[in-house]
Amino acid sequence: MKKDLFALKGTICYSKNQKELVFHEDSYVVCENGLCAGVFSQLPDEYKSIPVEDMGDRLIIPGFTDLHLHAPQYAYRGTGMDLELLDWLNTITFPQEARYADLDYAKKAYSIFVDDLKHSFTTRACIFATLHRPATELLMDMLEESGLATMVGKVNMDRNGAPELQEESAQASAQDTRQWLEEIKGRYCHTYPILTPRFTPSCTDELMTELGKIQREYHIPVQSHLSENFGEIAWVKDLCPTSRFYGDAYDMFGLFGGACPTIMAHCVHSTDEEIQMIKDQGVYIAHCPESNTDIASGIAPIRRYLDLGLHVGLGTDVAGGFSLSMFRAIADTIQVSKLRWRLMDQSQAPVTLEEAFYMATIGGGSFFGKAGSFEKGYEFDALILDDAGIRHPQEISTRDRLERLVYLSDDRNLVGKYVQGRKVI
Ligand SMILES: [Zn+2]
Repeated sequence: MKKDLFALKGTICYSKNQKELVFHEDSYVVCENGLCAGVFSQLPDEYKSIPVEDMGDRLIIPGFTDLHLHAPQYAYRGTGMDLELLDWLNTITFPQEARYADLDYAKKAYSIFVDDLKHSFTTRACIFATLHRPATELLMDMLEESGLATMVGKVNMDRNGAPELQEESAQASAQDTRQWLEEIKGRYCHTYPILTPRFTPSCTDELMTELGKIQREYHIPVQSHLSENFGEIAWVKDLCPTSRFYGDAYDMFGLFGGACPTIMAHCVHSTDEEIQMIKDQGVYIAHCPESNTDIASGIAPIRRYLDLGLHVGLGTDVAGGFSLSMFRAIADTIQVSKLRWRLMDQSQAPVTLEEAFYMATIGGGSFFGKAGSFEKGYEFDALILDDAGIRHPQEISTRDRLERLVYLSDDRNLVGKYVQGRKVI
């Protein structure tokens, strides 16, 4: 097998752990067959003759994983931002998502989404499509072509949708999901299916039972929403009177961690019992601070989750969030944690840059395996960032350069991107 071997040279930065960033100026990061072979100040003899792309003093960081976003909602990002979750779903989201029954519309909308995601700071993402199987497959085809590494879910919803956006029955939804999984079998290298019950209010017990069976049969992960909004939580209590708490309404069907790798978005208002189950069963939390602000859900207790050692990654939750930028997600994480600390609980210290960067890289990346670091053996996902346009008269540290990108960057600062060793841009 031909060895794919090269190095990038520049100012390299990544998380050593949750509390610490490491910086290597004027150094090399080596990619060998899609994996990181290490960071070196001088290339070792075995790598002396490999191709080197010299980035000068540009920053080279691991790629970001967007752990939660909705591809069909990108079309109307930045609208309806004065509503609360349930009104926003009914008045904007459901009618808009219904449009993806039309493949021509889906093609137009998803081309824009995929192109923008490709040129964003995101290298990996866990994505909701819609309930429409053909449009979901089209989205997966486009994402595969983009070079990004993604998990994509055909959404399941057999109740409480809109007349134009709801599956006929639990059986029809399950049948369509099986057909989707069969049709995409072996079709992609870096686009993976993920089971996607929209959220408990959208899925009957009968459908959840079927999805549990499909999960155990196909061994695929699951993504959904959890404890985002007070109205939603009260609704789940009514709909699932036998569940002990919201998370239990997934667990009853085997869709909440353990042998079923699971991402739950939000967890803003999780109870102690729910948090304990998240911990015990290794459920990933996708923290989406911008969306939680835009649709008035609240501020998730991320300091508590970090201290408990839970798996926490960051999501943009487009279009509850309006921006695809994971740098912005890092900034929002820090900002909302400060508001929470100031206004709600002064025993919970705000999140630091180091912690938020970790969440955006390894925190979410680990849902894919070894992703989000330049330590040896990690998959080689890298962003090359040119911050020369963020001007300053004084000398600044590399950490300051990184922090300014968190707050001041836009897509123009991204000049190169690698995913699993593939050059994407
Ligand atoms: Zn969402």
